[in-house]
Amino acid sequence: MQQGTNLPKVGSYNRSVVLETIQASDGISRVRIAAMTGLTAQTVSVIVRRLLEEGLVVEDGSAPSRGGKRPTILRVSAEAGYAVGVHFDPKALSCVLADLAGRPVARLHLPVRPGARPDGVVRQMARAARRILREAGVADGKVLGVGLACPGPLDEDGVMVSPPRLAHWDRVPIRALLREYTGFPVTVDNDATAAAIGERWAGIARSTPSFAYLYLGTGIGGGLFLDNQVYRGRSLNAAEFGHMTVDPQGPGCYCGNRGCVEAVC
Ligand SMILES: [Zn+2]
Repeated sequence: MQQGTNLPKVGSYNRSVVLETIQASDGISRVRIAAMTGLTAQTVSVIVRRLLEEGLVVEDGSAPSRGGKRPTILRVSAEAGYAVGVHFDPKALSCVLADLAGRPVARLHLPVRPGARPDGVVRQMARAARRILREAGVADGKVLGVGLACPGPLDEDGVMVSPPRLAHWDRVPIRALLREYTGFPVTVDNDATAAAIGERWAGIARSTPSFAYLYLGTGIGGGLFLDNQVYRGRSLNAAEFGHMTVDPQGPGCYCGNRGCVEAVC
């Protein structure tokens, strides 16, 4: 679990550490949060009080006592907020509405017209996000934002940089466009890293500080978590191993090399 810091002026960081600790647990007490994050009991108590007031966290029964008062169990309030996830594959859009506990509430799959221009596809993503919210009856005020997973590589501004297999998508500012068309905050990541974050947030790696995720989709890539943090490396795309040469005499690859992992697979 991520460690908090007891230095002043790091309130919002500690707040996210506490919220993430509660989210990753199956119900947890204040004492246990303090033990796991290294924060003082008082700091945890202040942060939790605010999270309770904001409705992001709820009290849910109490844990067995180890002598003294039974500690109250805290959980994330699943209905306190929602996020729309969009996965852009060259051939299809998948859209999902998830609650704050990371559980999918609704799903939508739409084909992408072959040869469709970037602007049209991003508008299609925005319409899909609007439709899934309308069908699920979730008001805009409850939407925390949109998470977009798309083929890499991406730069730090959410701009796609010569993605293989997507001829017209070089230098497309996909994050800024989707923010403009939906009106919601947008976070974007390459599909493999997004999948790794998903496993960390609500999947099999919830309590695993370091792991590698192998992504076998239209292309082959990977996501890395090291010591509770996404690892991107200097290239921002550190785990993209699909174009490592594994067989110098192997088949030609669309990237121009021979015997890439992706071509061999
Ligand atoms: Zn290649």
